[in-house]
Amino acid sequence: MQTITLNNGLQVPQLGLGVWQSGNGELLQEALAVAFETGYRHIDTAAFYHNEAGVGQAMKHSGIDRAQFFITTKVWNEDQGYAQTLKAFERSLALLDSPYIDLYLIHWPVKGKERDTWKALEFLYREGKVKAIGVSNFLQHHLEALLPYCEIKPMINQLEHHPYLVQKDLQDFCRRQEIRFEAWSPLMQGGVFTIPLLQELSLKYNKTIAQLVLRWNIQNSIISIPKSIHPERIKENFDIWNFEIEAADLQLIDHLDKAQRVGPDPDVFG
Ligand code: NAD
Repeated sequence: MQTITLNNGLQVPQLGLGVWQSGNGELLQEALAVAFETGYRHIDTAAFYHNEAGVGQAMKHSGIDRAQFFITTKVWNEDQGYAQTLKAFERSLALLDSPYIDLYLIHWPVKGKERDTWKALEFLYREGKVKAIGVSNFLQHHLEALLPYCEIKPMINQLEHHPYLVQKDLQDFCRRQEIRFEAWSPLMQGGVFTIPLLQELSLKYNKTIAQLVLRWNIQNSIISIPKSIHPERIKENFDIWNFEIEAADLQLIDHLDKAQRVGPDPDVFG
């Protein structure tokens, strides 16, 4: 497993498993058991997904040392603000049944709340309750408004990112600010499978389209968190370490960009 180093020196496994819409029951437990057995150690959850308890339970049942895991959770929009965020964090911690969280994110920019919420994250970081802090769904103007008020810079920005929404300018801005770029919906919620170029490249590299897109993320230094609860897909998505996409093909995938979202627009949502 390749890792990405954050601006505080923390190493993040570059591929994780997203658990949005994975439930909080038996299916989630089975999916996480397969994922841990396959080698995943990075799990992306959120208070909003209502399955932090299931993630905590699966970690405990795995028998794997807590220090081996990289767990992300996020403060939901309605819980933002300084005091509310601290309260929401304690709830997440209790549900995850863990002494700390690896990465805590502001789930969406909520107008007027970003600075107070960020101050709460800085407090949690200084207290040692989280190993890294960051944001999600922050466009460049959201970051430009927040950064002057940061004593600690966000370490990650988690955004919608896939071949139809590449956001090169935002990637470059984050890189200049030493904020690592993390892709949500990397498989376009299943939309990547019908893109003709990816079908061609899949034949060329003898890899599935999912593997190709995730490998494109890895080679672009992007952290990626595809979701699946199907054992064979969980394993398939992890099997991306034994091939290289040529530079010219990476660019062809970049050029598929249409600025097309499958999720909400951060300027409207939140
Ligand atoms: P995704 O792009 O990961 O696509 C998931 C879909 O693709 C599922 O239907 C899954 O069954 C299918 N799939 C996965 N692997 C496959 C394979 N190998 N072959 C065929 N089909 C496959 O979409 P997502 O779930 O929206 O995003 C991934 C994760 O990102 C979420 O689970 C969540 O953790 C995170 N996320 C974060 C935000 C945010 O606002 N921060 C928003 C959405 C998602």
